[in-house]
Amino acid sequence: MAPGPMRCPECGARGLADEDECNGLFQEVVGREFSRPELFHVHRLTVDAYSLQHPARYMKSAKSAVAHLTGMCWAMEGDDDPSISNALSRFLDGTPTLTRPEPVPPGGVRGGLNIVDVHSAEDSEQHIKLVKEWARSVWESWAENHEKAREWVEEAKVKGRSQKGRR
Ligand SMILES: [Zn+2]
Repeated sequence: MAPGPMRCPECGARGLADEDECNGLFQEVVGREFSRPELFHVHRLTVDAYSLQHPARYMKSAKSAVAHLTGMCWAMEGDDDPSISNALSRFLDGTPTLTRPEPVPPGGVRGGLNIVDVHSAEDSEQHIKLVKEWARSVWESWAENHEKAREWVEEAKVKGRSQKGRR
């Protein structure tokens, strides 16, 4: 029998036996980010990008799906307001009727880069550059959900503001 296509069925990364092997690389990349302080600021982006490429595992519930999608939306389009991550979690906790955004495409490649690219980075500078390129390509692949993601981010901001005003 011919060997199967060696790629992750979720993100399309080549040279991997299955999604578990892909996840192994993800864990190593996360380990690298925790062991080098200069990489910590891209850690959230790494988690959101990986999750958006592996929605069957990391975006099962509506809440986790919306969390990763809005986190990515803010990273790509927002300003550097650090209070947004708190506003987003308050929004997620306080909005029980979220509908899960449908991953597009329903299976297979999402974005031009993947964890194999980031894993191959030779130094921290390259790691940061690759995470940002990777995240951008993953975000573009979710284009059909951009509108919805922006609405959620706006809602979260309004909510965050109204809670700040209440003392
Ligand atoms: Zn994968």
